[in-house]
Amino acid sequence: MRDLSAGPRVLLKRLREIMAEPLEPQERLDRIVRQIASNMVAEVCSVYVLRSDGVLELYATEGLNPDAVHLAQLKMGQGLVGTIAASAQPLNLSDAQAHPAFRYLPETGEEVYNSFLGVPILRAGRSLGVLVVQNKAQRNYREDELEALETTAMVLAEMIATGDLKKITRPGLELDLTRSVTIDGDSYSEGIGLGHVVLHEPRIVVTNLLNEDTDTEIQRMAEALGSLRISIDDMLSRREIAMEGEHREVLETYRMFAHDQGWVRRMEEAIRNGLTAEAAVEKVQSDTKARMMRLTDPYIRERMHDFDDLANRLLRQLTGFSGSGSESFPNDAIIFARAMGAAELLDYPRQNIRGLVLEEGAVTSHVVIVARAMGIAVVGQAAGVVALAENGDAVIIDGDDGQVHLRPMADLVSAYEEKVKLRARRQEQFRALRDVEPLSKDGQRIKLQMNAGLMVDLPQLVESGAEGIGLFRTELQFMIASTMPKAEEQEGLYRNVLKQAKGAPVTFRTLDIGGDKVLPYFRNHEEENPALGWRAIRLSLDRPGLLRTQMRALLKAASGGELKMMLPMITEVAEIRLARELLQKEVQHLSKFGHGLPRRLQFGVMLEVPALMWQLDELMQQVDFVSVGSNDLFQFSMAVDRGNARVSDRFDILGRPFLRILRDIVRAADRHDTPVTLCGEMAGKPLSSMALFGLGYRSVSMSPTAIGPVKAMMLQLDIGALSSQLNALLDEVNPSEPIRDFLKRFAEENGVPL
Ligand code: PEP
Ligand code: MG
Repeated sequence: MRDLSAGPRVLLKRLREIMAEPLEPQERLDRIVRQIASNMVAEVCSVYVLRSDGVLELYATEGLNPDAVHLAQLKMGQGLVGTIAASAQPLNLSDAQAHPAFRYLPETGEEVYNSFLGVPILRAGRSLGVLVVQNKAQRNYREDELEALETTAMVLAEMIATGDLKKITRPGLELDLTRSVTIDGDSYSEGIGLGHVVLHEPRIVVTNLLNEDTDTEIQRMAEALGSLRISIDDMLSRREIAMEGEHREVLETYRMFAHDQGWVRRMEEAIRNGLTAEAAVEKVQSDTKARMMRLTDPYIRERMHDFDDLANRLLRQLTGFSGSGSESFPNDAIIFARAMGAAELLDYPRQNIRGLVLEEGAVTSHVVIVARAMGIAVVGQAAGVVALAENGDAVIIDGDDGQVHLRPMADLVSAYEEKVKLRARRQEQFRALRDVEPLSKDGQRIKLQMNAGLMVDLPQLVESGAEGIGLFRTELQFMIASTMPKAEEQEGLYRNVLKQAKGAPVTFRTLDIGGDKVLPYFRNHEEENPALGWRAIRLSLDRPGLLRTQMRALLKAASGGELKMMLPMITEVAEIRLARELLQKEVQHLSKFGHGLPRRLQFGVMLEVPALMWQLDELMQQVDFVSVGSNDLFQFSMAVDRGNARVSDRFDILGRPFLRILRDIVRAADRHDTPVTLCGEMAGKPLSSMALFGLGYRSVSMSPTAIGPVKAMMLQLDIGALSSQLNALLDEVNPSEPIRDFLKRFAEENGVPL
C-alpha cells in the first residue's frame, strides 16, 4: 500500500489544534488558510464561501491582497472558482490564466500566480464554497495534494454547516446553506402544509473528523465493512427476497458496491490522510455524489442512489446511529425522501405529518396512493430536494401547485398561512353539509360514496359524510405488503373494514393487479402493452387459487352481514359466469364446513372495457349492480394511456363521444333496473359530476375529500333542467358549443357552485 507523504497528516493535526482553540471565526479561518499554504508550500491559499444570492465571497486568504477579503466576489459559474462551485469538481491547472474560465479580479493581485488547485467545499454532494491554493511557478499538483486539499475542505464544510461563519457574514446577507429555495415538482396530492423537514433517511452528522491513530481507524473501517457485507448477504438469503425481483436486484447492486475495491481504497486513503473512518466514508460519498449528480443517465442516477444508501448504512455501522430518534419528531413534519415504500410512510405518526416530498415517484406510486388516502399533501419529482434540506428546516409544501418552499421568507409564510385559513374555512363549510340529506334542488336523491383501499381510509367515512364505500381497491393491501398477504390477513382486513363501516355498504373489488399495479413479490412477465395485458380478472381467472382465496376471505369476513363484491376489467359477459362459478364453489365449501355465510350477497362488475358497450343488455341482466370505471373506460375508449401525460389530457372527458358512452350505460341500467355507480376520478370533480347527474347517474363514488365540494354543487343543482339541455346538446348534429363550456355556463347562470 502506498504510503502518502506525512504532509496531509501533519496538516490535519494542526487543523485539529486550530479547531480546538477558542478563536473568533475570522481568526480561525485566517489561521487555517495560513496553515494550508505553509503545509502545501503554496504562496496562496483562499477560501470562498457561497452566499444565498449565488455569489462566492472571499472569506479568508493567505497570499492575496488581504483588503480583498469580504470584497472580492464571483458569481456561481464565473471564473475558475465559480466553475468549481457550479460543477462541484476540482480544477488542477499549471497555467491558470490559459483556462477559458479564468477571470482576473484586480483587487486580489492574483495575476502573478500561474498554477492553481481548487476544490469544492462539499456537503451531501452540494457546494458550499471553494478552497484554493496557488503558486507562482508553473507546477502540477500531485494527486495526494489534491486529496489533502479535499480532506481539508471537509473541515471547512463542517464550519459552514454548523453556522460558525454567521458572525462574519455581512448583515443582510446569508450563506447559501440557509438560502430560501423553491423547488418545482409535480402535484401528487393536493393540500398545503407548513412545517419542518424530517429527512426520511437522516443525514448522519459526523462531528469527529480528524483521527488520532490511522491503524485504529483502518481497523474500524474493515470491521464495519465486514458487518455491512454480512448484513447484505443476510438480507439476500431471506426467503421473501430469495426469488427474483426488484428488491433482489437492488441488494445485488449493494453487494457489488460493498465489495468494490475502488471504493474501499478511496476511503482508506482518506483515513491515511488523517480522517476518522466515518469522515472518510462521508468524504468519498460526497465526492461520488457530486460527480454522479451531474449525470443524466437515469440508470446511473439510480445506481448513485444505491451507492448513497450503502454509504449511509456504513455510516450507521460506524457511528452506531439507530435511526428515527422519534422523541424529536416534530408535530408538523414534512417528510423528505428520495423514494419511499408505502409501509414506511405508515410507520410515521400520522397525526404529525403535514406533507411528503419525493425526489422520484409517480402519481400512481403506492406511497402516493397511501398518502393521498391519508389526506397528506404530496409533491413528487422534486429533483435534488434531499441534498438541499437539513433536518428541522422550515418548509412549506404546496401540493396544489407542486411546489416546495424550503426555508421560506416571512412574507411567503404569511401568504400561505392565509391560504391555509381559507382552505380551513371552506372545509368547515363542507363539514357543515355533512349531515344534510343529499337532495338536488329539484328533489332528486343522490348517493355519494367514497373510494378506499386501506384501513387508514376508514375514518374518512364518518368525516366526509359518505354513504358508504363505492369502491374498495383490495389490491392496495397487496401492493404495500412485502409478501403475498395470507388468507387470514385478507380476511382480517375485510372484517375490520366492515366493522369500521358500521353497517354502511362497502363494495369490495376483487384483485385488480397487473398493468401499472405491480406486486414486487409476484413474478410478472414483461409485457409490451401492460394496460392491455394479463391483468385484473384475466389474471384472476388464470390463477383461480388467488381469486378463490380472496373470495373465501370476503365471504367469511362478511358472515351474517351483507357482502358486495365486484369484478374488475370484464371484457365479455362469459367471464362473469366463470367467476361466479368460483364463488359458488367457495360458498359450497364454506357451508359444507359449517361456516356462516353473508346474509345477503350482491355480485357486480366494473364497466371499464368498451367491448361491454355491445353487451349492455346481457350484462345488466346478469349482475346485481354495475360500477363504471371511467378512468379505464376513457383510456380504452379514446386509446390514450392514462399514465402518459403527453396524451392523457388530449381529449376531453366531457366531450361528446365519452358522454354519449356514459349515457348509453345509464340508459341500459335504467331499462333493466340495475343499479349503476360511477367510481372513476371524474366523479370527484364538481363540473364532471354535474354532467353525470345530468346524464342520469344517481350514484357516484370518489375520493373522500371530494365529497364536500361535489355535495355543495349538487345541493344547488336543478338536475331536470340540466338534463334536458344536456341531452339536447348531445343529440345535436352540429353542436352549438363544446359541452364543457355549456356546463360551466349552466353552473354560472344557475348559481351552482363549482
Ligand atoms: C377506473 O378505472 O376508473 C377505476 C376506478 O379503477 P382504477 O382507477 O383502480 O383502475
Ligand atoms: Mg380501473
